[in-house]
Amino acid sequence: MSNSRPPSTVDEGLILSPPALQNPATTDHVFQRILQWYLPQDVLDKITPDLHDFGSDAISHETNVHIGNAESQEPYVKAHNVWGARYEADRLVTSNGWKELGKWGIKYGVVGLGYEEEFGPYRRTVQHAFNYLFSASSAAYSCPVSMTSGAARLVRHQLSSVPPDHPFHELYARLIARENNWISAQWMTERPGGSDVRNSETVATYAPLTSKTGRFGNIGEGDYLLSGFKWFCSATDCNIVLLLAKTESGELSLFVAPTVREVVDAQGTSKRVSNGIRIHRLKTKMGTKELPTAEIELRNARAHLIGPKDRGIATIALLLNTTRTHNFITALSCLRRALDIAKAFALARRTIDQSLWTFPMHLNVLAQLEVKHRGWMQLAFFTSSLLSYVDNGFPDDAPQIFSLLAKLPNTATVVLRAFTSTSKAVICKSSTLAFQECQEAMGGVGYMGKSDEPDEPEFNVSRLWRDTASNSVWEGTTNVLASETVRHLTKGQNLELFNTWIVSAIAQVSDLASMETLQSVWTSLKERLAPGQKDQGLAAVLGVARQIMFTLAWLVSCILLSLDAQRDKDAVAFEVARRWVLDGQGIPGEFGFTDLIYQRSVTAQDRKPSDRERTEWDCRIVWGIDLPSNSSAGYRTAKI
Ligand SMILES: Cc1cc2nc3c(=O)[nH]c(=O)nc-3n(C[C@H](O)[C@H](O)[C@H](O)COP(=O)(O)OP(=O)(O)OC[C@H]3O[C@@H](n4cnc5c(N)ncnc54)[C@H](O)[C@@H]3O)c2cc1C
Repeated sequence: MSNSRPPSTVDEGLILSPPALQNPATTDHVFQRILQWYLPQDVLDKITPDLHDFGSDAISHETNVHIGNAESQEPYVKAHNVWGARYEADRLVTSNGWKELGKWGIKYGVVGLGYEEEFGPYRRTVQHAFNYLFSASSAAYSCPVSMTSGAARLVRHQLSSVPPDHPFHELYARLIARENNWISAQWMTERPGGSDVRNSETVATYAPLTSKTGRFGNIGEGDYLLSGFKWFCSATDCNIVLLLAKTESGELSLFVAPTVREVVDAQGTSKRVSNGIRIHRLKTKMGTKELPTAEIELRNARAHLIGPKDRGIATIALLLNTTRTHNFITALSCLRRALDIAKAFALARRTIDQSLWTFPMHLNVLAQLEVKHRGWMQLAFFTSSLLSYVDNGFPDDAPQIFSLLAKLPNTATVVLRAFTSTSKAVICKSSTLAFQECQEAMGGVGYMGKSDEPDEPEFNVSRLWRDTASNSVWEGTTNVLASETVRHLTKGQNLELFNTWIVSAIAQVSDLASMETLQSVWTSLKERLAPGQKDQGLAAVLGVARQIMFTLAWLVSCILLSLDAQRDKDAVAFEVARRWVLDGQGIPGEFGFTDLIYQRSVTAQDRKPSDRERTEWDCRIVWGIDLPSNSSAGYRTAKI
């Protein structure tokens, strides 16, 4: 037998060429459905041109060059000159790509949109629509964006209690500006612990300047001096930082300080010097390598007290509950990108002489990922919209599910508080696990990492995975957030208030089998939460706090997916909702209470599609088309 093909060489033979990624603003149907549901048409009409341009930028060659540059030129610190003298301020050198990506996002409003008046009660939702497009292309600049956005919310809450000539007004304006803006960081974690910051070893001493600019001093002329050692300080290249420190009472207060200060030397020359902030060293991390994260020593850093004295943890919660929404949007943005990459690969790849994109098993893997992503998107935009409404007022024309809460502000706060922790923990953790499937779906090429292809970020799933994994750690680990959710729901009247809300939300699900299933799961879940309302029962309930949190996230995603399908009777949306509710898909199995998630109401027993039907639905879910008549068999057929 002769083989007519010439042998392959380095340059000849089959070289895979996956199709270029598409503009996510115009091709991500899940994202489009979300925006159509959570935003009114006039808002959508206004933002659509910018969204399209931003989405186009996100996958452009120029953006990929910036990402590649940020990946390959990691930040470094230069603290001394060639003679060994220490600089007035440590020189933290970051890449051009990193800086350009930041400017690009800020200009489009990834921070500003959440605070500018234009979109009223919808502003956070609009902001996160842009962040969803930004994060996967930001080379981890989504981190400083999230911290700056959180700081803006925190500072905004203080503005009504300070006079117009107080520096916090300029601070707020700079944080939300689209040009000449300030980036903010928060450095809380110390060696004694990041989850429990009460053991802080940073000390704040009251030492006001004898003369200062105006009545309150400028941002660099605060009344306190802070000293201590901060252990994980991301966005080290920031302008402003929020810091927890103990005052003489021994309680934690929150402070805000610039990283450098303008001073006038003995010769009368103005110069910029470090505000008592010394970079000990940069961290070497598994991912987010573009992002500088440092260990920092504070020596008499001059700072303003922000928020009530000795109430530092409560004050910084305003920030954390915002950055957490950024965390889950980032996770979903990166997962969407990873899925798009895996799908582009499947379109190009042939194996056993058949196209991979219609292999029944491969199709099912991709469909499961799409189904998960859809539910988490609902949870994410539900939580973000609720945050937007609670901060900016409920709109009169709120969609039905939100109008449930509009009349009951107390309930809205209780539900929001439960979901800022739950959505952050569940989406970030589940997405991190889902990345593994995207990587494996590309075979060996999926495993290519930084050292091999730093300047080719377009199809690099490993990079996205490494970066996203950090979202499960910072701003609260999964355990810490599960503990927060359970302690919040079992406190005072919260469980009853939450129960009232969720029972009426479940009642809106029109499909009887789904509604009965969800009712029954909630009844059981509430029973498992209830003992935590008493001190003697809390420890046992906390032992299964993760399962409670994941089951709760599953339940609410099921409600949202069901209502989403109901609103326009979209067949694929119904199938996705059916898979979540009746097949128990959505969250990694063992993370929830499997005995609850996989139970079926009696009316649901006959609702399972055949294997062939399931493959047909898989194709519609993944590719948005019916299974082609020449679809792959998925096995090597015998030659006759
Ligand atoms: C890439 C990266 C960037 C970071 N950037 C910043 C930053 O800019 N600013 C900042 O302040 N911090 C930052 N951090 C630190 C991060 O916030 C902390 O690592 C995190 O809060 C956990 O704290 P820890 O490392 O001290 O772990 P620990 O608190 O010691 O936790 C160890 C383990 O114990 C578990 N645990 C702790 N408490 C409880 C509890 N009550 N119940 C059940 N389990 C518990 C945790 O879930 C975890 O699994 C960053 C971390 C990373 C990885």
